[in-house]
Amino acid sequence: MTIITRSVLGVALGVAVVSLSGNGLGAQSAADVQKAVDAAYAKYRGLQEGKNADYIPALAKVDPNLFGIAVVTPDGKVYSAGDIKTEVSIQSISKVFTMAQVIQEQGLESVEQRIGVDATGARFNSIIAIEGVRTVVGTGAPEMNPLVNPGAISATSMVTGKTADEVWKKIIGFHNDAAGRPLNVLQDIYKSESDTNQRNQAIGALMLAYGYIKDNWQQAVDLYTRQCSIGVNAKDLAMMAATLAAGGKNPVTGKQVMDAAKVPGVLAVMATAGLYDDSGKWLYHTGLPAKSGVGGGIIAVSPGKFGIAVVSPPLDDAGNSVRAQKAIADISNALGGNPYVAKP
Ligand code: GLN
Repeated sequence: MTIITRSVLGVALGVAVVSLSGNGLGAQSAADVQKAVDAAYAKYRGLQEGKNADYIPALAKVDPNLFGIAVVTPDGKVYSAGDIKTEVSIQSISKVFTMAQVIQEQGLESVEQRIGVDATGARFNSIIAIEGVRTVVGTGAPEMNPLVNPGAISATSMVTGKTADEVWKKIIGFHNDAAGRPLNVLQDIYKSESDTNQRNQAIGALMLAYGYIKDNWQQAVDLYTRQCSIGVNAKDLAMMAATLAAGGKNPVTGKQVMDAAKVPGVLAVMATAGLYDDSGKWLYHTGLPAKSGVGGGIIAVSPGKFGIAVVSPPLDDAGNSVRAQKAIADISNALGGNPYVAKP
């Protein structure tokens, strides 16, 4: 594995990209990839738009200047700029990997039948969205998805295990395998979110009432809160994205984390709902399945080509990192990452 990194004037910003074997990018050389990463870093590191999330008090305290970019290609090469070491909480990006874990264990139909794979068009923690699609499970196809809070808390409840500990080991294990290293929960974030997650508790209770969650919604909400508090840096996130880009195989450890045949289902839900109610706009401009988190991270996947991640905490009104959206769009466009563009 090669890591190419650049830090400019000690500014705490980071971006990471991981590429696939071959290197998956056709005529583009390693130097081209690094050039695209450096250009995006230089262009956006001074950008002062957006605001840290503060509805989870600990998130407001994170350094808003943190900016890291990483790209990982399927051959395991890592390209980066800025701060790719400082950890932030993974937040909603964990929803992808818990959904993937359920799909891996229980099949693509499990999530489709219990939760649904349709956009809600609403904010990630919308309660109206639950009422809007209110379906007692078993009486019709639920129209929700595992990347907004109600569906995500339900997906967490679907991970099997006799005890909360057993369930947690599976959740963190899947995240570790995708990242290629053991990750830890950021306890200050976990405590801060646990103290203030009454809205998610309400969502959990409603999901039990409507049959999406079968029992113990409190455990599901707690484990969901814990998974959102996992600490990751830009390089970890890019590696996780690259695992999806490489058909479920971690490009550095070589571990097949998920069956290749199941990965397209995961990417489809990311394309549909990865940036909440701005998912359509994002897809329109980039064509990339992606997922954001209120900790400031965004991952995006160009299948067969690269996984990319950017960490930068200030968010726009929809809850998506401002710098991350811009940097990923620029880099992907420079690398021909949009899967909808026909190659001559
Ligand atoms: N833990 C956060 C929440 O449930 C995750 C939200 C997000 O990243 N969009 O509110």
